[in-house]
Amino acid sequence: MGQYGRSMTKFRKLLAEISQINSAIAACHWDMEVYMPEAANEGRARTISYLSGLAHEKLTSEKFLKALRAAEENFSKYGQIVDAVAESFGVQGNDECVLKNARQDYDKAVKLPKEFVEEVSRVCAEAHQIWVKAKEARDFGRFLPVLKKIVGLKRQETGYLGFEGVSYNALLDCYEVGATVEKLDPLFAELRLFLVPLVKRIGGAGTIDPNYAKKSMSLRMQTKLNELMAKLLGFDFKAGRIDASAHPFTTSLGPDDTRITTRYDEADALYAIMSTIHETGHALYEQGLPTEHYGTALGEAVSMGIHESQSRLWENIVGRSRSFWQYLLKHIQKEFDLLRGLDSETLYKSLNTVRPSLIRTEADEVTYNLHVILRYEIEKELIAGNVQAEDLSSVWNEKMREYLGVVPADDSEGVLQDVHWSAGYFGYFPTYTLGNLYSAQFYEAAKRALPGLEEGFKRGEFASLLVWLRENIHKHGKRYAPEELVRRATGEPPSASYFISYLKRKYSDIYGL
Ligand code: ZN
Repeated sequence: MGQYGRSMTKFRKLLAEISQINSAIAACHWDMEVYMPEAANEGRARTISYLSGLAHEKLTSEKFLKALRAAEENFSKYGQIVDAVAESFGVQGNDECVLKNARQDYDKAVKLPKEFVEEVSRVCAEAHQIWVKAKEARDFGRFLPVLKKIVGLKRQETGYLGFEGVSYNALLDCYEVGATVEKLDPLFAELRLFLVPLVKRIGGAGTIDPNYAKKSMSLRMQTKLNELMAKLLGFDFKAGRIDASAHPFTTSLGPDDTRITTRYDEADALYAIMSTIHETGHALYEQGLPTEHYGTALGEAVSMGIHESQSRLWENIVGRSRSFWQYLLKHIQKEFDLLRGLDSETLYKSLNTVRPSLIRTEADEVTYNLHVILRYEIEKELIAGNVQAEDLSSVWNEKMREYLGVVPADDSEGVLQDVHWSAGYFGYFPTYTLGNLYSAQFYEAAKRALPGLEEGFKRGEFASLLVWLRENIHKHGKRYAPEELVRRATGEPPSASYFISYLKRKYSDIYGL
């Protein structure tokens, strides 16, 4: 037993070294987006690239493998007993999860040859610049050659990583462990068949003024308001901060240090609020991970999809709900002496305006998923070789017409709009929609467990929801794969039906369908 304990301690030390480096990388990235002067770009890129290389070296080293093997061997002899004893005291076993995830990370890291990883990062760095210029010039043709190169590399990557079923599954698995085309196809098809007619019906219904709440507010006041907002939802300012950046994001720089950024617009008082709530959702998840397990899988988020479910739940299901605005508007009017003369019901409807549009990041919660499904369908066929990069622009526009009834005037508002493909992020998009599906399913389970939940929002009470999320999702870290976590938290496997009923209920009411 002593031998077992020693081998685990030794192995955890190596894991901790890697996570220290990753914390330093996160700090570099955060500073880059928030404070760094422009001229520092190149130097910073070199620092990040050096540190990333160092972390990769440590993960793929002989020393790491030896320590991992020793811990695995000892675990198979004694560890199960340790975990079983822990479980008999009502504490779930830890080491199995730590070792299993470390093994997966190691295997994944050594499957890709070093030269290949370097080539991908070189091509993608170059592609980013080309993409920016092509988008400015509204010319897909400029981006096409490098995109073809990236698609080729990604196909090659699936070969290195290995897969069951279709090759695209290897890429999906990088962002959402266990997600496959076989599972996503029926979920997304069900959703699409529901959404397309719903968008049409809403389009024919009464109009709502989307700019009803567009009132100016000084940046100083907005900063105060947004901080208050995050605090109200449970964000811990002793273990985090909020700053401004061009693209809002959330990151953790280490245990007890979660950073949010948001984006203010002086002419639109509520513009920042929605993105602050979104990022607060991500941050609450990070702050809810057990800090004592920092550096191991038990202290890490499960997946991109589960992460997005937390931000979407707070942003859309809570932050765009009627009861939320019944509380918040009154609060803003009283505490800030602002937005007087607005009424919460009209504001609620205005914030939930549904309108087919060209840009994914600006889409409402009904049309949003059609943007994602379109990208999923395209990239899966692209990796399979059934669609060629040359045809992307026309395939894109055709699907936009079919699903949303709008067609971009040029490629900058179409196939060139997102940064993901230039960065080689194939397989990432589906996690946005998975996040939406999970969020509705989690929320329904929380509502069943917490009677009077929405009534509480009207009084500014959000703590019980956060406690439920902490208990059922956050505290587990990566202990369960996404599907298993959903099953444990809600009693069912991931399903599209909760999200569909949520939209049906909410928008039939708003639009009187
Ligand atoms: Zn997000």
